[in-house]
Amino acid sequence: MSLAFEDICEVIKHQIKNYSSTISQDEIGHVIQIGDGIAKVHGVEKCKANELLLFENGSYGMAINLEESYISVVMLGTDVGISEGGLVKCTGQVVSVPVGEDLIGRVVDALGQPIDGKRPIEPAEYRPIERNAPGIIQRKSVSVPLQSGIKAIDSMIPIGRGQRELIIGDRQTGKTVIAVDTIINQKGKDVICIYVSIGQKNSTVAQLVETLEQNGAMEYTIVVSASASELSPLQYIAPYSGCAMAEYFMDKGKDVLIVYDDLSKHAVAYRALSLLIRRPPGREAYPGDVFYLHSRLLERAARVAPEYGGGSITALPIIETQAGDVSAYIPTNVISITDGQIYLESELFHAGVRPAINPGISVSRVGGSAQIKAMKKVSGSLKLLYSQYRELQAFAQFGSDLDADTKSRLAQGERIVEVLKQDRNSPIDVEKQVCIIYAVVNDLLSDIPAEKIKSFESELFDYLSANRPAVLESISETKDLSAETEAELRAAIEACKKQFEG
Ligand code: ATP
Ligand code: MG
Repeated sequence: MSLAFEDICEVIKHQIKNYSSTISQDEIGHVIQIGDGIAKVHGVEKCKANELLLFENGSYGMAINLEESYISVVMLGTDVGISEGGLVKCTGQVVSVPVGEDLIGRVVDALGQPIDGKRPIEPAEYRPIERNAPGIIQRKSVSVPLQSGIKAIDSMIPIGRGQRELIIGDRQTGKTVIAVDTIINQKGKDVICIYVSIGQKNSTVAQLVETLEQNGAMEYTIVVSASASELSPLQYIAPYSGCAMAEYFMDKGKDVLIVYDDLSKHAVAYRALSLLIRRPPGREAYPGDVFYLHSRLLERAARVAPEYGGGSITALPIIETQAGDVSAYIPTNVISITDGQIYLESELFHAGVRPAINPGISVSRVGGSAQIKAMKKVSGSLKLLYSQYRELQAFAQFGSDLDADTKSRLAQGERIVEVLKQDRNSPIDVEKQVCIIYAVVNDLLSDIPAEKIKSFESELFDYLSANRPAVLESISETKDLSAETEAELRAAIEACKKQFEG
């Protein structure tokens, strides 16, 4: 009996000795209003901006307005089952997404959770979706080209790694196709691609993923999708999530390409959310900080100096205009933030000029420093010849008797337009682009009918690969067009022309 009693004493003593008095404290508040995906919560004094809060039904919310007596929380999940007076717990964490190599090849939602029905993701780490952009000292000027594989872009509106180039145009003008072709062209070029879809139909995204898969591009691509059916807070955070994923790779010294398709819908989602939390509406009912919304996102694209990691993020934001109006609020904002724009026109698109790029008002503020030397040499006069042709064309409509010089310029211009046409999902290597642009700029194609330029082009590429591989090799190795290579190229074009006419 006494022995058992001593045993019990021993156990109690042991427990007293090892008693730990750590008290965990949670910040708990109460819902005072819920509806339209917005909750007002009272009693969480220590809540941080962008902090995640857990509701009774298991949904999470993000704190975005911190006011004196209550905070406004946007719901990231369903609000079914939440009632007035219900409890809300602060998690102490800001909204974060999984990042890492394991996401490559996957389709995820705005919170980084897989939606492609494959195995769960094993992230390298979690990162907050918001981060400050690299400062001036950390940056390096843009000088390495990011080849889009599209002749009209690589020759006239070159994009460099670390640049932000806007793709702007009306609906159905081929904006997405340009971005997707650029992703497809990164195959084997050691660039990781992220495609962020905001407010698009699920069917469109599914089709796009299929295109990427067919072209073998999913091997190095992450698709982040916040579709039209999802809550506006998720559409709002999707680009920041994608950017956090891109920064992980940039910090490891890799080159990343990120596409935001599109920021017009992103601004609309943010407007919906802001109006619901009763922020004052401004121009076009957008809230006052809509400029900051996009500038803080796009400033995160950068080329970092080697001593700070040396990676880069190239951003291709997309903006949809209404009836070609580039002076609306959101388009002008984003034009002023980016380093240039690719402007697409419906008229050109319907006239069969595809991609429907208008080179007259498209610019790249990085310019020739993002081109290889050979391309810089051959495309120097291309933009000028093209715009002269456009001017002459408008003028020549009125008269029939034109002098020989005008006629030859018109003929050359027509062939330039033909050369710059390109089918979707068929990017062309830069060395081949140099060859065909060399031919048209030096007026070597005038004796080929305009409608046969396309077939001549493919014949020229075949001819070069089969009979004069040295030309292509020399351009791709030296990145330059030496005098000998140029002579050989000219000879090859002449020989191919004979064969083509025959
Ligand atoms: P939305 O406003 O709906 O997002 P968008 O501007 O992104 O449209 P896309 O979806 O890229 O336009 O293209 C519209 C259509 O034009 C598609 O059916 C596509 O196949 C076709 N198209 C685009 N570019 C080309 C091209 N270079 N050659 C042939 N067809 C093209
Ligand atoms: Mg599109």
